Amino acid sequence: MELPFAESYKIKMVEPLRRSQRHEREQWIKDAHYNLFNLRSDQVFVDLLTDSGTGAMSDRQWSEMMLGDESYAGASSYFKLKNAITDITGFDFFLPTHQGRAAENVLFSAMINSGDFIPGNAHFDTTKGHIEFRKATAVDCTIDEAFDTTLDHPFKGNIDLNKLEKVYTTHPIEKIPLIIITVTCNTSGGQPVSMQNIKEVAALSKQYGVKVVFDAARFAENAYFIKTREEGYADKSIREIVLEMFSYGDAMTMSSKKDAIVNMGGFIGIREEALFQKASVFNIMFEGFITYGGMSGRDMNALAQGLYEGTEFDYLETRIRQVAFLGSLLKEAGVPVQYPFGGHAIFVDARRFLPHLPQEQYIAQTLAVELYVEGGVRGVEIGTIMADRDPSTRENRYPNLELVRLAIPRRTYTNNHMRYVAASLINVFERRDQITSGYEITKEAPILRHFTVQLKKK
Ligand SMILES: *Cc1c(COP(=O)(O)O)cnc(C)c1O
Repeated sequence: MELPFAESYKIKMVEPLRRSQRHEREQWIKDAHYNLFNLRSDQVFVDLLTDSGTGAMSDRQWSEMMLGDESYAGASSYFKLKNAITDITGFDFFLPTHQGRAAENVLFSAMINSGDFIPGNAHFDTTKGHIEFRKATAVDCTIDEAFDTTLDHPFKGNIDLNKLEKVYTTHPIEKIPLIIITVTCNTSGGQPVSMQNIKEVAALSKQYGVKVVFDAARFAENAYFIKTREEGYADKSIREIVLEMFSYGDAMTMSSKKDAIVNMGGFIGIREEALFQKASVFNIMFEGFITYGGMSGRDMNALAQGLYEGTEFDYLETRIRQVAFLGSLLKEAGVPVQYPFGGHAIFVDARRFLPHLPQEQYIAQTLAVELYVEGGVRGVEIGTIMADRDPSTRENRYPNLELVRLAIPRRTYTNNHMRYVAASLINVFERRDQITSGYEITKEAPILRHFTVQLKKK
C-alpha cells in the first residue's frame, strides 16, 4: 500500500475549544451587529477569520523566547534577526516594525507622495489604505484570469505587463515611485506570482526607473508554488527560490504574522543604504529605535527562528496540503470555490453561491454570517464592504469578486476541523435558496470600514 501523506510535526500543547448552540450564535452575531470582527473568540468554534498571527509557534521558537535580549539598543536579538533576514531574503538592510502595516507606514513615508500612482497586483487592504491615506492612487494591474474563479491558471497573482506599461506611459513617470508585487496575492485569493512574471515586471520597471517593492507576507508559500508549478524550479530549494525572488526587488515589507509564524511582528528589507537612512527616521518616529522597532527582543528571536521554519519544504507541504484538503471537500460537494486553491485560504465565490442576492446587500458578508450561525465557523468577507468607498466620490466600490475567505492558521487545526468546516458550509449550500435577503450598513468608519462596520438585516 502506498503510504498516505501525514503532517510533518506532532502536537505538544493544546488549547480547549468551546462548542456553542445555534440559538446562542444567532443572538451573539445580532449583538455583534452582524460584523464577525465584533465576536468574542470564545463564541467561535473554528476561527478562520485570518491566518495572521494565529499560528502555533514551535518548541524551538518558544525556546528562543527565553533567550531574548531586551536591551534598548544593539540587542543580540536584533543581530540574530538581522542575520536571519539577510540569509533568507538577501536584503542587506532591515528595519524591525511591530507588524506589516507599520512596515508600510514607515516605508511609504519615505517613498510615496500625494498625487502618486502605485501599480500592483490587487493591493492588500492596509497597503491600499496607506497609499490612499497619502492621497496617492493604487492601480490594480492583476491579470484578467484572476477574476474568473473557475479558471485553472497556475499563477493568478501575476501582473499584466500591458496594464502595467499603460500605467507607466499614461502618468508622469516621476509620479510613480514604486510598484508593489504582493506574494502571494491575498486579495485575489492567495494566488501566487510566477518567477517569470516577477522577472518581467522588474525588467520593465527598471526601464522606467520605478522601484520594485515586495509585499512579502506569504513569500514562502509563493516559493512553494513556484517550486511545484513553474518549469525549471522543481529541483531548487525553497530558500534558493526565495533568494531569487527577492533579488529582483529594491525593498520588501513583511507581516511576520504570516509566513514567519509568529503572533506579532514585521519588518522592512531594503537593498540600498540611502533608502534605509531615509526610512530609519520614520521608523524611530513611528515604531521605536532601529534595533527594536516596536518588537521585544524575545519576539525578534522567535521571528528569526520562524523565518527558517517557514521556509522548510516539509512544513510548507503540510500547510498547503491542508488548505487544499478543505478546498477539495468543498469542491466535491459542488460549493463554488476559487480554483486553483490558494496558499493560505479557501475563497468561496459568494456570487455563485447566492446568485439571487443583489451586490448592494453585501453578498459575501451575508454568506459569512450564515456560515457562523450554522457551525460557529468564522470566515471573513472580501467583497463590497472591504472594497470600501471611493475616496473622492464616496460611492461604494463594487469589486469583481464577492468572496468569503476561510483562512487557515498555521499548524493550529487538524483535518477533522477542516471536515467540520466543510460540513457547515455544505449545510448552508443546501439551504441557499432560503437565503433571500442580505444586509444594510447602519454605521461605518471613513477608512478600512470592514473592521468596525455595523449592519442590520435587510
Ligand atoms: C497581513 C498583510 C499585510 C499587513 O500586515 P499586518 O501585520 O496585518 O499589519 C500587508 N500585506 C499583506 C499581503 C498581508 O497579508
